[in-house]
Amino acid sequence: MSTVKIKGQQQTVAAGKIICIGRNYAEHAKELGNLVPDSPILFMKPASCIVHDGGKVVIPGYSEECHHEVELAVLIGRKGRNIKPANALKHAAGYAVAIDLTLRDVQNQLKRKGHPWEIAKAFDTSCPLSDFVPADMVPDTRNLNLKLSVNGELRQKGNSADMMRPVTEVIAVMSHYFTLEAGDILLTGTPAGVSALHPGDRVEAEIEGVATLHVTVA
Ligand code: ZN
Repeated sequence: MSTVKIKGQQQTVAAGKIICIGRNYAEHAKELGNLVPDSPILFMKPASCIVHDGGKVVIPGYSEECHHEVELAVLIGRKGRNIKPANALKHAAGYAVAIDLTLRDVQNQLKRKGHPWEIAKAFDTSCPLSDFVPADMVPDTRNLNLKLSVNGELRQKGNSADMMRPVTEVIAVMSHYFTLEAGDILLTGTPAGVSALHPGDRVEAEIEGVATLHVTVA
């Protein structure tokens, strides 16, 4: 079973489902030639795809274009359904930095056929994830700097202020479709600058003042 850690706590938490939102930063939607959606684009990854800090990512043999997407991750601490934005942060137990790895070539083929995205988004090792910082240590989720470098070169840089749906609304909208349970992890979308990873790459992701994450590509 996959688990996650909250800093300062002895016990690990069993990871539940990982729910992700697509195109939550306008600049990233544009760089892929996508329209900014009216209704949310949601998809999931199984907990078994989590890779912890220091771990290795394995790009599946059926893809030649694995993109990094640095994202703010929210750990759910309290069960809820149809949560109102005003109450949403009461359901957040912690925050972390995650990388939503995406097989872009496979995803584009699936999109063209109108097929689901799972094999492009939910493959083994597709969710590198740092330890979580307790939610009360992050007073404002609307002003967090996100960045990602590959082999020391900055590729992605953004601020959570540019999310079209802030964390409160991401929690609300996801809980409209799926019951959120303790241990579930929400990925809140990526800023612009996604690019391809290659074997041997060293990837460093950071949310300033929250967490850092290092993984290598096998
Ligand atoms: Zn993403």
